[in-house]
Amino acid sequence: MAAEETRLSEAFPMKAGAGPNSYAKNSTYQRGVADAAKELLTKAIAENLDTEILLSSNTFHIADLGCSVGPNTFYAVKNILESVQSKYQSKGPNSQIPEFQVFFNDHTTNDFNILFKSLPHNRHYHAAGVPGSFYGRIFPNASVHIVHSSYTNHWLSRVPKDVTDSNSPAWNKGRIHYLKSTDEVVRAYEDQFARDMECFLHVRSQEIVNGGLMVLTIPGRPDGTPHSHAAANVTYQLLGTCLIEMAKKGIVSEDKVDAFNIPIYYMSPKELEAAVEQNGCFSVEGMEILPYVSTLHSVAKTAPLIALHVRAATEGLFKLHFGDAILDELFDLYCKNLVAQHCIFKSTEVFNFFAVLKRKAN
Ligand code: SAH
Repeated sequence: MAAEETRLSEAFPMKAGAGPNSYAKNSTYQRGVADAAKELLTKAIAENLDTEILLSSNTFHIADLGCSVGPNTFYAVKNILESVQSKYQSKGPNSQIPEFQVFFNDHTTNDFNILFKSLPHNRHYHAAGVPGSFYGRIFPNASVHIVHSSYTNHWLSRVPKDVTDSNSPAWNKGRIHYLKSTDEVVRAYEDQFARDMECFLHVRSQEIVNGGLMVLTIPGRPDGTPHSHAAANVTYQLLGTCLIEMAKKGIVSEDKVDAFNIPIYYMSPKELEAAVEQNGCFSVEGMEILPYVSTLHSVAKTAPLIALHVRAATEGLFKLHFGDAILDELFDLYCKNLVAQHCIFKSTEVFNFFAVLKRKAN
């Protein structure tokens, strides 16, 4: 295996368990996105899944990358499975429906116990967990028919190295993300994204069978818009200012804030297309903007909900760096500032897109 395939990726899993701050309880927004993608998913499979693939194996392999702890992953898998089944059925009443094997992948630190405890009882597939970063190889060569991933590709494999190096021009002092940072910081994030996406496509091209599909739901920003247009980027900018506020009060050390950065990047569809073209192993069969899913709609009213969602997704990051003690205060302040500063979301957009890629024949 090449070195790039085995390189380690930093892991910041979603908040585990089923408590009030857990991802399982605070991922209804992502579920809304999955709802919006359902029709496109069905269409993508009906139109793009090669019938030869259906005949080539008795077992159909589906993988959900970055599955987290549920329940959204089960919903997505059910939709994929039903779409593949109807594709088989459309081949005639005698077509043999295969057995389905579903691989649930996430970082090794993901709470797989909770995930497996809540597996639907009436499922029509065999379930298996696949631990490890999707920036490395996680499946054998040409063994997966459909790869699905929702709300995961914005996570980089790591914080770009230079942004935490005080001797680098890309040192991100006083900020925790790239919005309103220097051009060097923005470039460091863009470069990290490009490297990660190259790696992601390379390893998937080895794992997906020829004619197999990769369907991705990605939070990002529209083509041709600046990073400041993505509402999600503004949420992290605001979180950064909360930390600075706490540093000024002496609750956290300024040095610690300077050394902390969020390994997330919001790409545009064009950036993904460019990476796919460069990789050369996939064709882009579809790229669609998903209908708007509210939450950031009226920030002042929905602030507590937004704060809970952001907390469930990023708490692990903050905990690792700053410890447990600041979490409640940080996210309370964040919620307060969301209400007080809701105007900063004025010219932003919540943007999610859906990409259908097909593994070309060699
Ligand atoms: N797909 C789910 C969860 C999205 S949350 C849904 O739609 O609700 C993002 C998930 O991606 C987290 O569980 C996180 O641990 C996982 N993730 C991020 N980077 C990853 C990586 N490199 N390898 C595997 N999983 C990753």
